[in-house]
Amino acid sequence: MSPSPLNPKTTHYEFLGPAGTLAISVGVPILTYAQYFACSEVAGGCPPALSLHTTCLRVLAALSDPEWWKSLWDTEATIAYFGWYAFCVVAWALLPGDIVEGTTLRDGRKIKYKINAFSTFLLALGITTGLILRNGPEAFTFIYNKWVGLLTASLLMSFLQACYVYAASFRPGKLLALGGNTGNLIYDWFIGRELNPSIGSFDIMSFNELRPGLILWVLINISMVCEQAVRRGGFSQVTDSMWLVLAFQTWYVADGLYNESALFTTMDIITDGFGFMLSMGDLFYVPFVYSLQARYLAFHPVVLGSLRTLGIFLFNFWGYYIFRTANAEKNDFRNGSNPKNLKFMTTARGSKLLTSGWWGRSRHPNYLGDLIMALAWSLPTGFETPITYYYVIFFTFFLMHRQHRDDKACQKKYGNDWDKYTKLVPYRIVPYVY
Ligand code: NDP
Repeated sequence: MSPSPLNPKTTHYEFLGPAGTLAISVGVPILTYAQYFACSEVAGGCPPALSLHTTCLRVLAALSDPEWWKSLWDTEATIAYFGWYAFCVVAWALLPGDIVEGTTLRDGRKIKYKINAFSTFLLALGITTGLILRNGPEAFTFIYNKWVGLLTASLLMSFLQACYVYAASFRPGKLLALGGNTGNLIYDWFIGRELNPSIGSFDIMSFNELRPGLILWVLINISMVCEQAVRRGGFSQVTDSMWLVLAFQTWYVADGLYNESALFTTMDIITDGFGFMLSMGDLFYVPFVYSLQARYLAFHPVVLGSLRTLGIFLFNFWGYYIFRTANAEKNDFRNGSNPKNLKFMTTARGSKLLTSGWWGRSRHPNYLGDLIMALAWSLPTGFETPITYYYVIFFTFFLMHRQHRDDKACQKKYGNDWDKYTKLVPYRIVPYVY
């Protein structure tokens, strides 16, 4: 399909262009497997107590051994993973849900979305709880035991999906993402060529953003609780740290799913295409990397005691409060209401920008709340290893980069008005700091 006024050719590369996107496509899976082998019981600890020399020898021995490569594949885990994905599709199709419209697209269309991610979550939780109550915690340690096989299956699914949406984007009449139409195969496949790929009324991007990855993250955590319960002699022996991680992350996921319609005003849905970056992020990275704390606690229990439990609980609550109120202020405002009577400025484009409340304190107060929560999720693992803090560190860089991308996009969208706004609100994420 040649560029058209509606689908202009993308002339600017992000992520260091094709070489950068290829490096991320290969590097992120390698790092994710490496994270497992650097922090697991199978490997001998978190990290295993080995010298650098022995570690290098071990890695080389594994990489040159065909049996090691074969061990990354597990047919049973692959069937289970594809079954899980199919369950989410069937739940989307069969469970009732309101139909809401997304924002107006460049071609004047509005996509209709079925809102039933939260009921899919409740159904998955109900089935899992029933299974555990009936058969005990042993019945749900499958995910802990099949970790590597499931990781490979989710990577395969991410890859297949990205190839499918890339190929389908060449069908006539598609609306392409402004950033994903360079003509370079690797780059467009990674960034996402089509803005909102779909099969009939099944919107692939919003489905992936919320369902098979996010809900699986909670199920993985539950499996880690079960693994710890089996080892320690029942649920009553599961540690306070494990319950905290489960509670925090389940709450976060439930909040995202409950507020499903808020997704339709996010950068991912409005401006980004759907390619390997999001496919891998949603299906592979989020569930299997974000659950690191629970996986660590499954084989390395930590008892916090009531004071530290309360302290971490309040810290998480503080982050959640900022995250939720900041997002609510913007969502209400973008949906035409301003219940707190916040100040705003009107741009030449006609769109308005909040200049008081959370959005007057920094340009991404919601990221601040998210970062506080990320730290609160790692604190229950204690301080014996830095590896369980990987998520906070990764997330800080990720959100700084995302903020930079959004700032550039807004600068392009609002021009001088954005400069005025950044003078009024100079801090990017953390008020008075950054
Ligand atoms: P935001 O929800 O922050 O939306 C950014 C958009 O908001 C801008 O492009 C602009 O769009 C609008 N905006 C900016 N400033 C103002 C203002 N002052 N007043 C009104 N509107 C404004 O972006 P994200 O999609 O990045 O984040 C959504 C949530 O998801 C966040 O809470 C984030 O932390 C979270 N998140 C979590 C991830 C995870 O892995 N856990 C990953 C990514 C995000 P416009 O003006 O066009 O409306």
